[in-house]
Amino acid sequence: MTAPDFDVAVIGAGPAGSTAALAMLNSGLRVALIDMATFPRDKTCGDAVAAYVPKVLATISPEFKAEFEALSQKQAVHTCRVFAPNGRPIDFRFSESGNIVKRIDLDNFLCELATSQKHVTPFFGSRVNSLAFKSDQNLWELQTTSGAIKAKLIIGCDGANSVVTKQVSDGRLLQQHHSAAVRAYFTGVAGVNPESFELHFIPELPLGYFWIFPESDGSFNVGLGALSKFISDKHLNLRDLLQHVVSKHNSISKRFANAIQISDVKGFGLPLGSRKIPISGKGWMLCGDSAHLIDPLTGEGIGQAMASGRFAGWMAVDCFKKNNFSAEFMKSYDRQVYKKFWTSHRKSYLMQKYLVPRFTLFNNVFELAHRSPSFHRWLQRAVL
Ligand SMILES: Cc1cc2nc3c(=O)[nH]c(=O)nc-3n(C[C@H](O)[C@H](O)[C@H](O)COP(=O)(O)OP(=O)(O)OC[C@H]3O[C@@H](n4cnc5c(N)ncnc54)[C@H](O)[C@@H]3O)c2cc1C
Repeated sequence: MTAPDFDVAVIGAGPAGSTAALAMLNSGLRVALIDMATFPRDKTCGDAVAAYVPKVLATISPEFKAEFEALSQKQAVHTCRVFAPNGRPIDFRFSESGNIVKRIDLDNFLCELATSQKHVTPFFGSRVNSLAFKSDQNLWELQTTSGAIKAKLIIGCDGANSVVTKQVSDGRLLQQHHSAAVRAYFTGVAGVNPESFELHFIPELPLGYFWIFPESDGSFNVGLGALSKFISDKHLNLRDLLQHVVSKHNSISKRFANAIQISDVKGFGLPLGSRKIPISGKGWMLCGDSAHLIDPLTGEGIGQAMASGRFAGWMAVDCFKKNNFSAEFMKSYDRQVYKKFWTSHRKSYLMQKYLVPRFTLFNNVFELAHRSPSFHRWLQRAVL
């Protein structure tokens, strides 16, 4: 029997993969952390980081949370300003503050934290092209651009176009459970509260929204996204639509009159958590975007990536402790992930499907919240 090079191979070193590697801290496991990119690397995103992210790090080590708190490139946000289709905004105040951090900084921070742990061996600039379970040797063999890597257990964290998901689970892109979004960085956008997210539900985008998120360096992450089914049915070009909104939309464009676009418009796909796919099996788990865990309404997936990465890291430790890598044993990973996210993802899915595209209803709900503080509080609890 061939000995594996590593106990665990984590494929992808974004928020999911770096957190999965961190979660195996002090376990004695030898972990390969493989990414086709070299870090720092950017990831097309809105850069909004959920309030619970520091807690995820704290449950692995209080020091990791402290290091996140000390990160200078983050902008704390205390409210979310949501504009109804008629343009009237409502502020929802978070009970705990979220953050906006450029992904080049956040992902580099997490990845450096992971690779500074002695149980983690990085393989960066190494694309995983294929993987196979060798039943005669009872291990996985990954074919990468830097050679073969063997491991007893694999954790797929390779994002929205995951090679691992395609090979071991269900990597189909179903347009009603998938979104696409684009973003660009701007300076000089007028009227932004630097401590607030802005979400605009606009008539041009009934199954999506436009956003403005203030960064710590004074720039703004500006973008929009929508359900892929809608984009394809309407033959929408999101890059053109973004330019249209900032230059022509009757209220938004005024705020961009003196703005300067300082980056290209970049786009990427979002596999939504509105359907369940198999996220574990004999000797494997999937996390983050490769597990299709993005909130169907907000498009948030960083927190889900980190929380699922942490569960997977802990599950891996348990597998080695009990010497059990069976599909049945792994199911406890699925239960933990879906217990945390399924209910809120279903709620988001239903709101996106039935409330967001019904403009009159949407506007009326917001009008009621303007008139009634108690309804406003109820709505805030329902939405956040
Ligand atoms: C335009 C846009 C806006 C968004 N806005 C937000 C937001 O504001 N807040 C939020 O929470 N979420 C947002 N999301 C979603 C968020 O970006 C993802 O949910 C998050 O990045 C998931 O993290 P991950 O670690 O699973 O995957 P990723 O961050 O995509 O990391 C995957 C890693 O795997 C590597 N990789 C891929 N394939 C291979 C391979 N074959 N071999 C080796 N390595 C590989 C990649 O290089 C990458 O480093 C947005 C997404 C988009 C597209």
